[in-house]
Amino acid sequence: MIVRVLGSAAGGGFPQWNCGCPNCRGVRTGTIKAKPRTQESVAISADGASWILINASPEIRQQLESFDPLWPREPRHWPVAGIVLTNGDLDHCLGLLSLRESHPIVVYATQATRDGFTEGNALYRTLERFPGQVTWRALGLGEETSLGNDGAGLGITAWPAPGKLPLHLERHREPSSGDSVGLVIRDRRTGGRLAYFSGVAGPSPQLDAALADADVVFFDGTFWSSDELIAAGLGTRRAEDMAHWPLGGTQGSLPYLAGLKARRRVLIHVNNTNPILRDDSDERQSVANAGAEVAEDGMEIAL
Ligand SMILES: [Zn+2]
Repeated sequence: MIVRVLGSAAGGGFPQWNCGCPNCRGVRTGTIKAKPRTQESVAISADGASWILINASPEIRQQLESFDPLWPREPRHWPVAGIVLTNGDLDHCLGLLSLRESHPIVVYATQATRDGFTEGNALYRTLERFPGQVTWRALGLGEETSLGNDGAGLGITAWPAPGKLPLHLERHREPSSGDSVGLVIRDRRTGGRLAYFSGVAGPSPQLDAALADADVVFFDGTFWSSDELIAAGLGTRRAEDMAHWPLGGTQGSLPYLAGLKARRRVLIHVNNTNPILRDDSDERQSVANAGAEVAEDGMEIAL
């Protein structure tokens, strides 16, 4: 299985359009050691020919163009056999609306994520112009489903990753266990296992079980500390209020990740305020000391 990181930043990207924090200013002006990053999405393939996207970011067009295996190979063609949504946040779904050029697409999502995106959404009609324009495939929790057209290729299991409702649905519906999921993707030929948990609110026995046998783990790298936004004067909510487990500190996710037996631990969905974005920061060194790494756009891993 090949995993290609198309985008590694949290919602807003890095730099974020309305942010003048030291990281965003520094990456714009080239005065810090850091690379810009687009919003989180990865492409996965068992054979290098047929691809699956995890999440459809607002920068999907640029991301598809950035990686030539995702280019069309015929006058009308798309080598992407399916798009998996980990939740209904707009930084994971908005890209779907950019795929409106009359091409059939297949989307894997929980019922909660599907309903949250399609119900009452007038813009979604652009993907309902002909029968079969979007085929939704249900992601059940804890059951393996085949991904893509080739049943022998990849199997996917979604696990509840307790989080929160997408911002635009808060106060409009009750939270449910399908609102946010982590994924285990298994290559049925090689047995390689990828765990993909880009939004994790905190430790849980289910998380332990899902990560136990993974060869490679992609994990929530949104915030270094609980009060990162508050300390920077950028917001009032703590990391936990946004359902993200901060990396730093003795109770942080970094010591937890260090204890996994996976051979690679990759932090993704990194918020633009996070000091791990700076290649020479102390926090980046702590990531390395924990045997982990920070995802960047264009990173590729084979497993
Ligand atoms: Zn910023």
